[in-house]
Amino acid sequence: MNVNTEKKAEYTFKAPRGTEDILPTKWALWRKLEEIGRQEFELCGYYEIRTPIFEDTRLFVRSIGEATDIVEKEMYTFADSEDSSITLRPESTAPVMRAYLEYELYKTKKFQKFYYIGPQFRKERPQAGRLRQFHQMGIEAVGATDPLLDVETISVATRIFDRIGLKGYKVKINSIGCEKCRPVFRNILKEKLCEHENELCDLCQSRLNRNVFRILDCKNEKCKTISHTMPSINDYLCGECHSHAKAVRESLLEIGIPYIADAHLVRGLDYYTKTVYEITHLSLGARDAICAGGRYDNLISDIGGPPIGSVGFAIGMEATILALENVMAKNKSVYQEVSVPSPLVYIVSIGEETKKKCFYLLNLLRKADISADFDYEGRSPKAQMRTANKLGVKYVVVLGPDELARGDVKVKVMETSEEISLKQSEVLKWFQNQQPPLKS
Ligand SMILES: [Zn+2]
Ligand SMILES: [Zn+2]
Repeated sequence: MNVNTEKKAEYTFKAPRGTEDILPTKWALWRKLEEIGRQEFELCGYYEIRTPIFEDTRLFVRSIGEATDIVEKEMYTFADSEDSSITLRPESTAPVMRAYLEYELYKTKKFQKFYYIGPQFRKERPQAGRLRQFHQMGIEAVGATDPLLDVETISVATRIFDRIGLKGYKVKINSIGCEKCRPVFRNILKEKLCEHENELCDLCQSRLNRNVFRILDCKNEKCKTISHTMPSINDYLCGECHSHAKAVRESLLEIGIPYIADAHLVRGLDYYTKTVYEITHLSLGARDAICAGGRYDNLISDIGGPPIGSVGFAIGMEATILALENVMAKNKSVYQEVSVPSPLVYIVSIGEETKKKCFYLLNLLRKADISADFDYEGRSPKAQMRTANKLGVKYVVVLGPDELARGDVKVKVMETSEEISLKQSEVLKWFQNQQPPLKS
């Protein structure tokens, strides 16, 4: 063997700060969550959409809002070769709406439902459960203002959590009003908060002029105490927002989704109107959201489209998986590791000259959907048999120089140790005739 024995350079590469590899051993939960998500989305009439990882920077500035944490300091923004600015998507709602407008999907059918699964990017201070590349799966129901649609989105999220067996989540909802009633409340809130300006944390002091609503969900204890003395937006909602909020709450109870009305729930994005919600999990500490969403009736017109009401959510996949792991640890249960199912057939080659034929048979079986594998490490027949045993295959095909000369193979049925001699030309047919059928 030709191994370089000279001094090896020390290996120093690591995954970039704030990113995580999802190793094969971690895939079980990821796969389960994705599968359950897809099933639920499609059951409810949502179609998958995939948008690029990056977009024109202006799309996010216009939709998320200039005075938000995301746009001010968390975006990965680059100049590309044509002197324009691109940004790795920090969320997927704006990209989905961009696609909806770009392809004029509203012309064929105004009401459309989409879902997406994929990575998002925010330059956050790395801490437990907060990644710079993180994954979301979400839905957007575009083209209707019915409060029942808000409830549908919440029910999709809760059913996903129920189906994956995540106990202990809570649904928190609020209304943040609309462009008619929100400015009134904003002024009142600002006035009242200004009376406490010096007691607020530094960040919230700067929020007073930029984004006063965010003070309401500041995690600083002093800010929390002050915001609890503030008036509630619910007392300032206009008639339309009020009846919308009432319809959402009544319907949630009718279909059996308990919720907490949380007057301090605002969201870090400017585009929300009326309903906002969060689903949290108590095992996650301060940053406990596993799903966040709401209605955004002005987003499409903000980015240049017709006025079309929409509602949607994003589930944080890392946070959900962390919550699931916490629940499982508490119950001392473990999730079955994903293992690729054992192949049905393992082909053992004896001697270098039989390899070609074995490889041919391997591909013959695979083409017929029969899962099969063989050795690429040049190991002894004995070692190959050990692998077959370890994998738990049902059949081993052995091909040595004698078999090669005669044009046949030996098939060993592992359960009974029975050995059968077959013509090479009959191998495929023999496996296809096994009962139960071997198709994987
Ligand atoms: Zn309103
Ligand atoms: Zn604060």
